Amino acid sequence: MFKKGKLFVVSAPSGAGKTTLCNKLLQAYDDLIYSVSYTTRPPRFDEIDGKDYFFITVGKFKEMVDNDEFIEWAEVHGNYYGTSRTFIEENLKKGKNIILDIDPQGARQLKSKLNMGIYIFIIAPSIKDLRDRLYNRRTESEEKINIRLMNAKKEVAYYKDYDYIIVNRDIVSSYKELESIYIAEHLKTTDIERIEDIFNMED
Ligand code: 5GP
Repeated sequence: MFKKGKLFVVSAPSGAGKTTLCNKLLQAYDDLIYSVSYTTRPPRFDEIDGKDYFFITVGKFKEMVDNDEFIEWAEVHGNYYGTSRTFIEENLKKGKNIILDIDPQGARQLKSKLNMGIYIFIIAPSIKDLRDRLYNRRTESEEKINIRLMNAKKEVAYYKDYDYIIVNRDIVSSYKELESIYIAEHLKTTDIERIEDIFNMED
């Protein structure tokens, strides 16, 4: 039913629950694929190279920047992160729906380069809540958590770049909100191809 490929760009200060929400949506919709980013951050204990990220060295990252292999890239919390240009361009051409989990700097770059996409911002209900989630996750040192909290305060100011905002109070209602966005975005009148499909159908 869904024909035209769409780009769902999701950003959130870390700890806002974005990964869980994106994974749920990916599990529910076969027509949605995840853009695996490249990063110079070391893998966390449960992360898989090629699935969560492509983990690469700073040298390799810089080489890829020089070769214009990233459609967007940014330095986030002291590490580099970037999105593969070929992956995005080729899959959009094929009409695939893509979900990207990138920071606000990257989202802004994508928006100005591609002039398309649905931009979704997810935030925790409070800084206290965010701090608790980061501590409970136990993936970062105290120093790194403080950097992430400081950045989270700055990142919230970017919310105006986004089309939608989800305040993640609990995963069930936040997922309902995310899924509603996904569904509604496929029902837009601007999706001319879909209208044409219906009217071109032979009886
Ligand atoms: P984490 O280290 O917690 O996996 O991610 C840290 C931040 O980097 C998150 O805000 C995440 O959205 C962002 N990020 C992940 N991949 C990319 C990317 O390819 N480009 C940009 N600009 N940010 C990314």
